[in-house]
Amino acid sequence: MLIKESKCTGCGTCVIYCPVQAITIIENKAVINRDLCVECNVCYQNADCPGKAIKPERLKWPRVIRNPFSSVVATHKLTGVPGRGTEEMKTNDITNRFEHAELGVSIELGRPGVGTLLKHVEYFTLKLSKIGVEYEKDSPVTALLIDDQGHVNEEVKNERVLSAIIEFKIPSERLPEILRVIEKADEELHTVFTVGIVSRVMSDGTIPVIKTLEEQGFDVKPNAKINIGLGKRKAKEGTLT
Ligand code: SF4
Ligand code: SF4
Repeated sequence: MLIKESKCTGCGTCVIYCPVQAITIIENKAVINRDLCVECNVCYQNADCPGKAIKPERLKWPRVIRNPFSSVVATHKLTGVPGRGTEEMKTNDITNRFEHAELGVSIELGRPGVGTLLKHVEYFTLKLSKIGVEYEKDSPVTALLIDDQGHVNEEVKNERVLSAIIEFKIPSERLPEILRVIEKADEELHTVFTVGIVSRVMSDGTIPVIKTLEEQGFDVKPNAKINIGLGKRKAKEGTLT
């Protein structure tokens, strides 16, 4: 992202919109820290710059990788999937990707507010590939892995993105093993990350994985997301654009 200095009034609106604090006002002009900027386009699309000073630049490889990992509306050229992850984890009732004896795991690095370097992804993928997990094939992060050992493409490792989501599934009984990798990362990795575990609810309403997590010393906050497709229906009816 670029700011045309001559047009900037120094109003500071764009500073508030930037999700990773990449913009500062210096001598009454907005200045973007290019190392911190994740090319999410939020300042351009939302700040309503009074001087029309904010302008997206034509990004080259490997910097261009920042945008699809940082904007929910951008599409990953590598996978054709829009957004930062796949929707598989949120639509298991339709996709049936995770069977009863399986768990889906997502590890999201970077949010909130700090972003992540793609080399942090490799911290996890080297360890996860070593013990063997089944990565989600349509996940943008999976597309960055260049071998079975979990190495990330060298060219993109130092690119900063808003978030990168590692998605995979495991047989339920392997959860303690995965949790040990995550616990170790908590000690060694100096960035924020969140872990999501997708599990089916049993017909009697119980969720067995909660007990496993609590036995391993984790504080569990069960959460559910149900997609009922209202957006699609309304769009079809012409009441939503
Ligand atoms: S919103 Fe526009 S005018 Fe205001 S500080 Fe940002 S770039 Fe400058
Ligand atoms: S493109 Fe995104 S990260 Fe870069 S300066 Fe604008 S809001 Fe901040």
